[in-house]
Amino acid sequence: MTEKNNNAGAAPALAAVKGMNDILPPLSAQWEWLEDKIRSLMVRHAYRNIRTPIVEPTALFVRSLGEVTDIVEKEMYSFEDRLNGEQLTLRPENTAGVVRAVVEHSMLYDGGKRLYYMGPMFRHERPQRGRYRQFHQIGAEALGFPGPDVDAEIIVLADALWRELGLADVRLEINSLGQPDERRQHRAKLIAYLERHSDLLDEEARRRLHTNPLRILDTKNPAMQAMVEGAPPLIDFLGEASLAHFNGVKAMLEANGIAYRINPRLVRGMDYYNLTVFEFVTDRLGSQGTICAGGRYDYLIGQIGGKPAPAVGWALGVERVLELLRQQGADVPPPSPDCYAIVPDASAIPQVLRTLRVLRDAGVSVQMHASTQAGQGSMKSQFKKADGSGARHALIFGGEELAAGEVTVKSLRDGQGTQERLPLEQAAAWAPRLRA
Ligand code: ATP
Ligand code: MG
Repeated sequence: MTEKNNNAGAAPALAAVKGMNDILPPLSAQWEWLEDKIRSLMVRHAYRNIRTPIVEPTALFVRSLGEVTDIVEKEMYSFEDRLNGEQLTLRPENTAGVVRAVVEHSMLYDGGKRLYYMGPMFRHERPQRGRYRQFHQIGAEALGFPGPDVDAEIIVLADALWRELGLADVRLEINSLGQPDERRQHRAKLIAYLERHSDLLDEEARRRLHTNPLRILDTKNPAMQAMVEGAPPLIDFLGEASLAHFNGVKAMLEANGIAYRINPRLVRGMDYYNLTVFEFVTDRLGSQGTICAGGRYDYLIGQIGGKPAPAVGWALGVERVLELLRQQGADVPPPSPDCYAIVPDASAIPQVLRTLRVLRDAGVSVQMHASTQAGQGSMKSQFKKADGSGARHALIFGGEELAAGEVTVKSLRDGQGTQERLPLEQAAAWAPRLRA
């Protein structure tokens, strides 16, 4: 546990775990705004929401991601259940969990499914900008569909999101990893090439040379870049069917006006991918420039014990997308209430609450001036709070108004301070005028 001792004498204050962040207002409004956009977009593309547990059996990730991957080798938060000794892991990603659920509930019995999820993921990485230990992903998965049309559909879906968010400077990189037998042939040639340049390999690359040589291609070590660029490209080993699939995806992207760059070194961090892989990247976030990544994983469902079925999906990093939005000065609406209720005399609160209930039921958002230790606060301080809240109207529940069965509605935005008195009994009728 992390402790910060900054209040001498009192119990030491506790702080959040390193690399795990609190998401506070007003920033949390940006998260909700993004989540709302995603929900609407997913509905329009007929992707349905799935929610799976945050904790899964460790074996699920070892089996699906592969033993020789960054995540399984060094990033998982794994622990033993104290009560029954089960090996458990906080999910580092959610494709494995979705596939586990799809298999467990035989969700593909009546055909393919299009699903999406949002939620926290956990990886023990070195925290830095755009890289956290608890971070959030939004993902889309289309399971049970073999064709390049669905690869294109799911890429088009991500692209639609960037357009909707107004994100610029995001580019698409794609590649094909072919099929396992094609990869095996490439692998032999790749290992031979890397062995010829073994003097240039760093320690991690040496370790992976015979277990996961493909991963060496996406090394971030600048000293290895030039050597790696000369390696035999996987695409040269693809057979006719794999090439046809890749060409199909490309043609459909072109038909949609989606620009892409083929990156022969794009290999992705998990073992489960085949055929199409892709990333959306930006230069604006330094070395954490990948905001969304995915690909086809036709063998994973079978690997996890289900009846083999093809699938394709992507996941985006919420923190990175929001960071990019902020950098571009995106116009995220701040969460201001429609009205601020000013209550000079606390004895009126029961009646005020009754009226606020009617307004809120009618969809008006109202922030009420809460009582303070000294009382209800002067009119002046209440008006100051009303202004600070960003509300467009002040509702003044003064003694005189209440005696007449009315409330004063004063505009806080039009500069003239226009005001009118409205009958409490008819609140439901005039409420819509106060809504944003
Ligand atoms: P990277 O190469 O940056 O480590 P990755 O290949 O491990 O990324 P994926 O597992 O493909 O990432 O996850 C999909 C997306 O989730 C990434 O493109 C990124 O936007 C986001 N992401 C991954 N790890 C983190 C993290 N530790 N903190 C914040 N976002 C992350
Ligand atoms: Mg990573």
